[in-house]
Amino acid sequence: MLIVKKFGGTSVANKERIFHVADRCIAEYQKGNDVVVVLSAMGKYTDELIKMAKDINEKPPKRELDMLLTIGEQMSVALMAMAMNQRRVPAVSLNAFQVTMHTTSDHGNARLKRIDTERIRRELENRRIVIVTGFQGVNKYDDYTTLGRGGSDTTAVALAAALHADACEIYTDVDGVYTADPRKVPGARKLKEITYDEMLDLATLGAGVLHNRSVEMAKKYGVPLVVRSSLNDSEGTVVKEVTTVERMLISGVALDTDAVRIAVIGIKDMPGMAFKVFDTLAKKKINVDVILQSIGRAGTKDISFTVNKDDLEDAVATLEENQARLGYKELHSERNIAKLSIVGAGMMSNPGVAAKMFESLYNEGVNINMISTSEIRVTVLINEKDGIRAMNAVHDAFGLTD
Ligand code: ADP
Ligand code: ASP
Ligand code: MG
Repeated sequence: MLIVKKFGGTSVANKERIFHVADRCIAEYQKGNDVVVVLSAMGKYTDELIKMAKDINEKPPKRELDMLLTIGEQMSVALMAMAMNQRRVPAVSLNAFQVTMHTTSDHGNARLKRIDTERIRRELENRRIVIVTGFQGVNKYDDYTTLGRGGSDTTAVALAAALHADACEIYTDVDGVYTADPRKVPGARKLKEITYDEMLDLATLGAGVLHNRSVEMAKKYGVPLVVRSSLNDSEGTVVKEVTTVERMLISGVALDTDAVRIAVIGIKDMPGMAFKVFDTLAKKKINVDVILQSIGRAGTKDISFTVNKDDLEDAVATLEENQARLGYKELHSERNIAKLSIVGAGMMSNPGVAAKMFESLYNEGVNINMISTSEIRVTVLINEKDGIRAMNAVHDAFGLTD
């Protein structure tokens, strides 16, 4: 069997943990399996590198920032190979160049396009454990790129797909995927299984346990994923196309505190205005989420939407530059908001799920600013200060608490 194992930052944060991970991988190798290990930077090292960069230059060139960030993953793979060598087990570390991991050009948010598997195959044939840097890639200019925060999960899934691996295991600092972030909702319950679609929504809406692109890729290539703890042997959560356990009404609750709201006030009430606003943002590669348009009055209307807080400055600057062309009166932005979502395939066949969520928020005295829904999710925009309380209330209302 060929197994891809990915370990996150906490799992390789110090010498003891590095040896612990090395021993787990060695045990797999000694069963006769081919083992490919994907690692993140140690602990919070990526944050530290970003801090160092910003200390020198508040807005570092994106190319140079990627150049710096790749150090984190390179450090962990080299140390892991040394740990395995110390145990007398043959291992080799490889970075994105050596593999090669081809990505698009966007620094800081590149997409994996293709992975050359020849070098890895050769190393596996020589019975070595292959340890690969997560999170990084190489673009067509031969420059380093990174895949976005949390991107090592995506490296692992992409490698599993490219190598036709028999399993892809994501080891982290919790036992699996829970009905909500167990650090925010103490009563959250571990899920045995979850569908790709549900996991994709949860990951996109704030459940940081998996990088959302890793789930997208797992679905696309049918890679079965297991999320489990690097610290114990408990069973973990399987992410797959169709789940077999009895379906709950909702599978999880997610909270995203990285969103900010922008309101474009007093736009002319005529066809094409929404297109112009969002096209202007799209040209700057700014992702827009929950959108609300008011009913027009006196020939004008308002459009509100959310963007990631990292994009706020760019979004406001772009809209201000285009004020004359877009013809709006004012621009407002609000930072202290949170996006609370419930996700579950079960809601497709059960009316009243949204009402139940709104009722629990009403009981908690939480005001809803905006609402957005899809077949399998309901998202509300609330004040950030209400976030954790509202998340717990909704989680309770759906009977998810242990
Ligand atoms: P790693 O460094 O291993 O990639 P992350 O910090 O990226 O770890 O992801 C694991 C964290 O995700 C957990 O510590 C937990 O706080 C958070 N998390 C958020 N939502 C969930 C959820 N629904 N289930 C489990 N963990 C979650
Ligand atoms: N080290 C990177 C980060 O902190 C990638 C990852 O952990 O997946 O975002
Ligand atoms: Mg992660």
